[in-house]
Amino acid sequence: MSATGTLYIISAPSGAGKTSLVKALIDALPQVRVSVSHTTRGMRPGEVEGVNYHFVDRPTFLGMLERGEFLENAEVFGNLYGTSQLWLEQTLAEGYDLILEIDWQGAQQVRRLLPQAQSIFILPPSQQALRHRLTNRGQDSDEIIERRMREAVSEMSHYEEYDYLVINDNFAHALEDLKSIFRARQLQLEAQQRRHGGLLAELLA
Ligand code: GDP
Ligand code: ADP
Ligand code: 5GP
Repeated sequence: MSATGTLYIISAPSGAGKTSLVKALIDALPQVRVSVSHTTRGMRPGEVEGVNYHFVDRPTFLGMLERGEFLENAEVFGNLYGTSQLWLEQTLAEGYDLILEIDWQGAQQVRRLLPQAQSIFILPPSQQALRHRLTNRGQDSDEIIERRMREAVSEMSHYEEYDYLVINDNFAHALEDLKSIFRARQLQLEAQQRRHGGLLAELLA
């Protein structure tokens, strides 16, 4: 894959704030796109097909899987999730940075295939805050919230596999932390050489 954009993986336990942070991040950074996953999970109130997810039934998902259309896929909380490979390759080749909001199983698969991917883990400030956010979000039943709380510790136990760790206590602060990670990457030598080829040639003439 001759990608020019940077691929970012963002993982977090459910309710840590990854969707809100990623939305704020892409609103602030025009060169960044977020991958829309396929899922067999039911649509939440307010979710929009093709925006939050591509919502598909199990046979459709399994058909795509069989045809090798997913870069990675995983079962999380009993639902299937996957990242379509085609859109990802096209978007990176166009020079956009791309965010995958995926779980630790998917992150492991992507790191194996694309070792240059930068990975970020988002943690809540406490277990209590996590439960609060899941409850306040008001989109999941008590039973689903309990399941997500139980699985949060197992998701969080993978934090050491990631390049960056961001604590989402104060939202604005966490957003600045994320922006700094993206900015630093854009200032690395190769990216700057691509962006400022003309200037570099002129300065050294
Ligand atoms: P939320 O994270 O609480 O908003 O709940 P979701 O149902 O949207 O996501 C549940 C989990 O599935 C999260 O851990 C996501 O990171 C993960 N997930 C979402 N899309 C994908 C995907 O395409 N691949 C993988 N591997 N995991 C995904
Ligand atoms: P995730 O995508 O990780 O499941 P969400 O982005 O849906 O998490 O956030 C879960 C809930 O927590 C949402 O209701 C969101 O508005 C809220 N939230 C996110 N970040 C913060 C924060 N720093 N402080 C308080 N509430 C937050
Ligand atoms: P969105 O990012 O979708 O525009 O908004 C996400 C929601 O997250 C907002 O409605 C807001 O209530 C909540 N939120 C985001 N950051 C914070 C924060 O730092 N503190 C609190 N209390 N709520 C937040």
